[in-house]
Amino acid sequence: MDALLKLDATELATQVATGAVTALAATQATLAHLAATEPKVGAYLSLDHAGALLAATQIDTARKAGKPLGPLAGVPVALKDNLHVQGSPTTCASRILKGFVAPYDATVTARLKAAGAVILGKTNLDEFAMGSSCENSALQQTRNPWDVSRVPGGSSGGSAACVAARSAFVSFGSDTGGSIRLPASFCGLVGYKPSYGRVSRYGLVAFASSLDQVGPFARSVRDVALALKVTAGLDPLDTTSSAQPVPDYPALLARDLKGKRVGVVREYLDKLPNRQVANLCQAAIARMQALGAQVVEIKLPHADFGVQVYYVVASAEASSNLARFDGVRYGLRVPADNGIRAYFSTRGEGFGPEVKRRIMLGTYALSAGHYDEYYGKAARVRTLICRDFDQAFAACDLIATPCAPFPAFKAGEKSDPLSMYLCDVYTIPASLAGLSALSLPVGFDAGGLPIGMHLSAPAFHDDKLLSAAHALEQDLHADQSLQLDRTPSL
Ligand code: GLN
Repeated sequence: MDALLKLDATELATQVATGAVTALAATQATLAHLAATEPKVGAYLSLDHAGALLAATQIDTARKAGKPLGPLAGVPVALKDNLHVQGSPTTCASRILKGFVAPYDATVTARLKAAGAVILGKTNLDEFAMGSSCENSALQQTRNPWDVSRVPGGSSGGSAACVAARSAFVSFGSDTGGSIRLPASFCGLVGYKPSYGRVSRYGLVAFASSLDQVGPFARSVRDVALALKVTAGLDPLDTTSSAQPVPDYPALLARDLKGKRVGVVREYLDKLPNRQVANLCQAAIARMQALGAQVVEIKLPHADFGVQVYYVVASAEASSNLARFDGVRYGLRVPADNGIRAYFSTRGEGFGPEVKRRIMLGTYALSAGHYDEYYGKAARVRTLICRDFDQAFAACDLIATPCAPFPAFKAGEKSDPLSMYLCDVYTIPASLAGLSALSLPVGFDAGGLPIGMHLSAPAFHDDKLLSAAHALEQDLHADQSLQLDRTPSL
């Protein structure tokens, strides 16, 4: 592997800016590496070689001409294939979007381009971001670079796998109930779900609009801070995006945790069947204490209902959002002898089984006779979960829990939907409450699989969350025995 690929995005951007490395060399090295690893990993659904090489050349030309460069100039980036890149296909890993080409850039895409990022291509996902393993993709299977017999996690599995495989420096995914954090945990990366409203959702194909957020995957917290800085902020095209000013996240990263209070839910750690996950999280929490933090025990009594609430709320919103795929406006159209039948045949052939399950669940939950019993009740319990967090955050600044109950599992291992849904027990509550949250690698299990810890902070405390995560990350990396600088051998 080219030594260039060992740099993180922050270092690469610095070297491109000083001329020590060209954007073209970085892009070519990434594309060459990717050509060798993709047959095993399968992270990308489409690549834009020509566009990437052109963008890189333009960066180098601008630098030679003395023009100012953006903060991500020359950094090869990949995007989940539910984010629009003008002129490239957006498939959502579904047959129903066959042939659809995005007519415009998502706001995140536009901001990345403006920051000088080199967009390499689009990555695999569970169909319409519904799943936890990437196995619900209708187009391709993606494997975990740490062990190709295992899943990368989902739904942003391709975005996680490409950064872990070093076939991109940074990638973006979407997180509705855990789809950035879970694959980050399975692939040994930092995966960040911004506070709801921090990053524009314009140009992200909607799954559950009250939960969806776009966020980055990277190999270091400082890269995540940089990626967030260039993509966050008010967007007139997304009315849920916040006008709160965007702090200079990379400049605010701290070295210690003095005065920070870390909330811990004792039962999560005590009752976790996978003791290796529990012990690595426990050890990381002890490090936070050694760095000056005070550990406080908190309770989140209603968070136990998070998965149930999520599957009602998210499915209800999905059933409404996905009504637009009708064979008339986008992608696939399966002809039939009248309009209604064409609608049935297109949706019948175009959507996969998990998407159909969600649409049926959601439609039922919203139906006249059951609305209050399901959707109304779920919305009320969601409020109770939010209140649990309000109370907890009165006593602590951040909350540390496991990110996933187990490391990456084998492809094909989880065949029933319920066991797949339970992958997200620790990530869903933060989504329901709109918090800022991330997964941070804290070590490897005995089988060499990466383990992530989940850290969350109140909405719009993204700067404080990243700062604390950085301090812990630096301390973890200084401990050689944890081998956190390892790379997967592919
Ligand atoms: N795994 C969860 C689901 O299947 C979360 C997905 C997501 O965050 N997009 O819905």
